Amino acid sequence: MTEPAPVSRHAERTSFLPFSRPTIGDAEIAEVIDCLRSGWITTGPKVERFTSDFAAYVGGRHASAVSSATAGLHLALMAHGIGPGDEVITSPMTFVATLNVIELAGAVPVLADIDRRTLQIRVDDVARRIGPRTRAIVPVHFVGQPVDLDPVLDLARTHGLAVIEDAAHAAGTEYKGKRIGSFPTTSVFSFHPNKNITTGEGGMVVTHDEAVMSRVALLKFHGMSRDAWKRFDRAGSPRYDVALPGYKYNMLDMQAALGIHQLPRLDAFIDARRRLAERYQAAFRDLDALILPEPVPYPARHAWHLYTPLVNVDALTIDRDAFMAELKARNIGVGLHYTAAHEFSYYRDRYGWCPDDYPDAHFVSDRILSLPLYPALRDADQDDVIAAVHDIAQRSAR
Ligand SMILES: *Cc1c(COP(=O)(O)O)cnc(C)c1O
Repeated sequence: MTEPAPVSRHAERTSFLPFSRPTIGDAEIAEVIDCLRSGWITTGPKVERFTSDFAAYVGGRHASAVSSATAGLHLALMAHGIGPGDEVITSPMTFVATLNVIELAGAVPVLADIDRRTLQIRVDDVARRIGPRTRAIVPVHFVGQPVDLDPVLDLARTHGLAVIEDAAHAAGTEYKGKRIGSFPTTSVFSFHPNKNITTGEGGMVVTHDEAVMSRVALLKFHGMSRDAWKRFDRAGSPRYDVALPGYKYNMLDMQAALGIHQLPRLDAFIDARRRLAERYQAAFRDLDALILPEPVPYPARHAWHLYTPLVNVDALTIDRDAFMAELKARNIGVGLHYTAAHEFSYYRDRYGWCPDDYPDAHFVSDRILSLPLYPALRDADQDDVIAAVHDIAQRSAR
């Protein structure tokens, strides 16, 4: 048994403040009820509408709604023909699903380190790790800032690689004036409740490549021909063919009902997130206890999925985990996005990866935390977070 972290006494909030909370309005609720009353609750017309609305918003050519971004990334890898013997380069600073699906597709994840200031994958390190077995690059647009896509696309063209963007954080993100989803790649978005818009659970695969889209459509629903859900319709045929053994990764109309009304609010959500993030940045500017997130050095629109400062442990008597415990003791919710993927036991044991193999990811992994950030976060509640951070910083200054 380890000792619990020592927690100091102070004036506390009486209610717990979550670090994230979806913003669900009356229109979303009415659409879900409409779905339930309609007699059609699985994949159907609401999914079709949400899919085309989302493709139009991001400027994507082809789109397919799925049950999660994890499912979408899995399908995207398979649709690009990636499997046993292939290597896929990605970032250790991501949700572990990004690596898990590479494993599940039978391929080998190869990691490139990040830049500890912007937290994005370093394209020079990606270039260094390209070898004869490399088939794809999976850049992760971390917390809503874009990866430097131009040099990634150049590398992909030079070496004949697929680019599958993990765009789970990047609904509404722009790179050099264009939305993520509009580039000549395959990109995968998430609508998990913590993400910038939600369908409960859900994801979207967007691609420039028609052949990739056909394979995603087949693989996501039993390998059955594309509009198989219409087979119970008057216009549809009850007969279908199975071209290959597929998965069951379809989005439901009940989920799309939420997305249809979340999507038109996305820009306002991002504006609200940005305003709050800027309040944090101003409040912490002179604080030694935190290392603040930096903007990427190219034109970008940050979707502010998360606000993730680093705890400057060298200036403190406590580590990041103790800092998080102190926040929780003050009724402030925190998140950990993420422990670097190369530090999980499965990956350590399988590939012999050491923390120091990716020094910047390791540095960030030991220090990062996510403070409360969501569109409905009230200034007074955010002020409690700011006061708590200042209090902890003062009490634990070295
Ligand atoms: C959330 C997330 C995923 C997985 O999304 P789900 O929709 O929950 O499956 C993948 N990659 C990153 C970077 C994420 O944050």
